[in-house]
Amino acid sequence: MPIDFQLSENQLALQAAARSFATNVMKDIRPLVNAISDPAERFQATRPHHKAAVEAGLVNGLFPKEFGGSDVSTLDFALAAEEFCTQDVSLAGTLLGTGLGTKPLIWFGTEEQKKRFLPDFIEDGTRLAALAFTDTVGGANFDSPDPSCGVQTFARLEGDEWVINGKKHYTTNGSGWDGKGCHLFAVVCRTDPSKGAGDSLAIIMVPGATPGISVDGILEPTGHKASIAPRIHFDNVRVPASNILGRPGDGVAMVTQNFAWTAALIGAACVGVMRSAFEIARDWACRDTRSGPHPVIDYPVIGYKFADMKMKIEACRYMTWKACQQFDLSRGKEQELAVMTKVFTSETCVEVVYDAMKIVGVDSYQKSHPLMDLMNDALCFPLYDGGNMGARRRQLHGIIRDPSYDPLTAPFARY
Ligand SMILES: Cc1cc2nc3c(=O)[nH]c(=O)nc-3n(C[C@H](O)[C@H](O)[C@H](O)COP(=O)(O)OP(=O)(O)OC[C@H]3O[C@@H](n4cnc5c(N)ncnc54)[C@H](O)[C@@H]3O)c2cc1C
Repeated sequence: MPIDFQLSENQLALQAAARSFATNVMKDIRPLVNAISDPAERFQATRPHHKAAVEAGLVNGLFPKEFGGSDVSTLDFALAAEEFCTQDVSLAGTLLGTGLGTKPLIWFGTEEQKKRFLPDFIEDGTRLAALAFTDTVGGANFDSPDPSCGVQTFARLEGDEWVINGKKHYTTNGSGWDGKGCHLFAVVCRTDPSKGAGDSLAIIMVPGATPGISVDGILEPTGHKASIAPRIHFDNVRVPASNILGRPGDGVAMVTQNFAWTAALIGAACVGVMRSAFEIARDWACRDTRSGPHPVIDYPVIGYKFADMKMKIEACRYMTWKACQQFDLSRGKEQELAVMTKVFTSETCVEVVYDAMKIVGVDSYQKSHPLMDLMNDALCFPLYDGGNMGARRRQLHGIIRDPSYDPLTAPFARY
């Protein structure tokens, strides 16, 4: 039986549908949001596109079948995400944000918790969820064993309620569409200031309408312009004690698995962005002579550059597929490939988009040039989702220095 990289009939249909959605619906997003200066208005401008994504079943795919979802695999999501991100990364980020806010519940919640929170998203897929992970004082040390540092959002148990206090930012979707708060937050916090993450880090599900939650401003990243990056304050927010997922301390594994899932998918987003940069540069090089004797693509040095770019794009795609497949087969336990994929594809994406800019030359260094938009989007990939510095330090170094580490597990383990 050969290794088969050919997509199944269903996957080809999914890919074709995603490509059609991207080129018919999402292609409007960049020009639309580039004409809007206010970040909240940019996000709101994508609401009809998000609704169209819901109607196309894309949000539904995040949820398990027993709750009415279609439980799309990470690999199949990656096929769709690549197509979307050839046109726009923000809407994909909004969809991913709802996934980040609900996957810990789906993976680690009890049946009772799932029954309480998930049906709302099936009833109305335009509702948004968010992972409130990054504190305003940082996110890199979330797993610190030293109780004097790490996550500074705390939940204290008072009777049968958690009382949550803390300040978060970059909480994708956290403002909701109306600027008042999203439908559901998964809040990363510590339950005891005297205990490190391993004993106290927790994820608590918090409905967005709970008193004490406020949207305290919107940040303005240079790329991902129609994603929303709000500051969210939790001020004596009270929720039932039963809203905690697992037990205090379980939060480290939950956060790590969540970021491994997005890591694998970000590989697909990076491939989509690289594809777009490659095509923009190639189209230009095929028709523009720069007042020389022939189109720019005929210069060997340009052709070699395109060949290098294409090799990187293809390598990133297959690494992403493998990482997604291993993540699915291992039910989230295989994380080395996912994290490596995020680090490798995101840094390669920046290189490839910059190569495209070098080919097109100085005209690409204009605010209005599509490659400049792609560069601003690409620069985010190594920085967000835990950041590549942190991913190497916390995850990859941690995995590789473990005495039981087997370098052949990631490529060959069977699940
Ligand atoms: C578009 C976008 C969407 C996002 N969506 C979300 C979201 O939905 N939810 C959410 O919670 N966050 C979100 N974020 C934030 C994002 O996930 C951050 O990447 C993450 O929180 C960590 O950032 P950081 O590594 O820069 O951490 P910081 O804590 O700000 O660290 C800053 C720098 O210090 C270094 N550093 C800190 N401590 C150490 C140490 N012990 N050893 C070595 N180096 C150290 C880090 O490696 C990093 O280089 C988003 C960000 C963006 C831009």
